Amino acid sequence: MAYDKNNVFAKILRGEIPAKKIYEDEFALAFPDINPKASIHVLVIPKGEYQDWISFAGKAEPDFVAGFARAVALVAKQLCLDSKGYRILVNNGADAGQEVPHLHIHLLGGEPLGPLLGK
Ligand code: AMP
Repeated sequence: MAYDKNNVFAKILRGEIPAKKIYEDEFALAFPDINPKASIHVLVIPKGEYQDWISFAGKAEPDFVAGFARAVALVAKQLCLDSKGYRILVNNGADAGQEVPHLHIHLLGGEPLGPLLGK
């Protein structure tokens, strides 16, 4: 499937839709989820045209993959999630309920999160 340049996160990266930036570097942008599922719920997105994890892992340069992984860790530390724990989650495709076709890491924490799938 081709990358959809008009998805909402692509528009945020281009500055066409506002987002409250909590972290940004050359690899990643992080902002709060508009519909939070935990007291802390932040999205971290790569600055590139990757619709999901397979696209990212297959197409991104190794330095970019490492830089993005480090950015996610920096955001977790910036939010002080490392002391009590947090969850990193990525939805890929229809069965996972992916709504936005631009890879995004859900960073969840700030309270006990319960079972992984809620069932
Ligand atoms: P997913 O189901 O993994 O694709 O998650 C997409 C997430 O993006 C959902 O949790 C939405 O609440 C969130 N979302 C959609 N639009 C925005 C936006 N403009 N700003 C912040 N979060 C958004």
